[in-house]
Amino acid sequence: MPTLPNNPNHVLVLNCGSSSLKFAIIDANTGNDIISGLAERLGDNAPSIKYKFQGEKTTIKLAANQAHAQAHAQAIDTLVDLIKDHNLDEQLVAVGHRVVHGGEHFTQSVLIDDNVIAGITQAATLAPLHGHANLLGISSAQASFKDLPQIAVFDTAFHQTMDEVAYLYALPYQLYKDFGVRRYGFHGTSHFYVAGQTAKMLALPVEESNFISAHLGNGCSVCAIKNGKSVDTSMGLTPLEGLVMGTRSGDIDPGLFNFLTTQLDYTAQQIDDLLNQKSGLLGISELSNDCRTIEEAAIAGNSQAMLALNMFCYRLAKQIAAYMVPLQKLDAVIFTGGIGENSDIIREKVLTQLAFLGINLDPQANLDARFGQAGLISASNSTSKAVVMPTNEEWVIALDAANITKEL
Ligand code: ADP
Repeated sequence: MPTLPNNPNHVLVLNCGSSSLKFAIIDANTGNDIISGLAERLGDNAPSIKYKFQGEKTTIKLAANQAHAQAHAQAIDTLVDLIKDHNLDEQLVAVGHRVVHGGEHFTQSVLIDDNVIAGITQAATLAPLHGHANLLGISSAQASFKDLPQIAVFDTAFHQTMDEVAYLYALPYQLYKDFGVRRYGFHGTSHFYVAGQTAKMLALPVEESNFISAHLGNGCSVCAIKNGKSVDTSMGLTPLEGLVMGTRSGDIDPGLFNFLTTQLDYTAQQIDDLLNQKSGLLGISELSNDCRTIEEAAIAGNSQAMLALNMFCYRLAKQIAAYMVPLQKLDAVIFTGGIGENSDIIREKVLTQLAFLGINLDPQANLDARFGQAGLISASNSTSKAVVMPTNEEWVIALDAANITKEL
């Protein structure tokens, strides 16, 4: 372990996707980022790293058209150089990896060793694209930061408290027993974080509070949190299930597969592309997957953009209402993610449909809670509250990594 004279709690947080690598050095004491950036289009003809340090933005071009493993390794090598150039390496205590799928094996964050790599490899069969990218990120970081403990933090771990009634599909049980086909849920670090922060804001003990949190970004999910634990969530075996999202359909009739293959000659890959890349807000609006663009178009009178917004909000409100079954009592609905933290329009449309839960919107507070501003947006006469809470998944990863490192 390095000695750390200044700040003993800086963690390099890596989020490795199939063609991108999001990174930040986070001060685990405060959640502030020291440096942050994104390597993107890895393996493409114009890969680059963009990063922000002390308010200044810089772009570095990377070598084009490399195989994925080399492209990721090169991005990490470049990241190591720029961390050293800015003298940030001596203050690092750990590397924290966001791992998308932990299967049933990982119920909390862990120090990465050979057994953990084997477990992540096994879980990667359930989410091959994300899983292999996560493994690439881990092996490149292990090679580059030999002296630092590497910690895996799983998107699925928070949801491992779900009961089998909630996580099983009504499919032949053998598929679950032999292949792990079940609902896992994602965005776990975000749901966990905003529940904790909301409990603090409302001065409630999190272990005695019931929340429904809506993480609304490009991917969207809702989580029912009972006494601080996830009891149900809208994403399933993969992050495709549940809500209408930017480009993902969310729930559909599985009978659609048969129709698309027999009537329209779709292949499995084409169906996967259709449901993951071409549906959701983009599919309905035929305009964009970006909520801001759709809101602007809807305000300007575009009826398909308005329909996309209305479907997004109806499906979200319906899912929130459904979670009253496991919760029975509700302290607050929480909005987070790029849309949840910024779109007063979406929040108003959703909460208007949920007035029967005793939530009355405070219109001014709803307008004020934007651009990273947390806030209570329900009126004082509400029996259940509504809250906007900016998420900070990187901080959770940094905290888990710093805490596990302290125990070594
Ligand atoms: P990711 O899931 O990739 O992390 P984000 O959490 O950043 O995504 O959310 C991206 C979404 O947030 C986009 O649909 C974007 O349009 C939306 N968004 C960001 N700012 C606003 C805003 N001011 N009003 C409405 N939507 C916004």
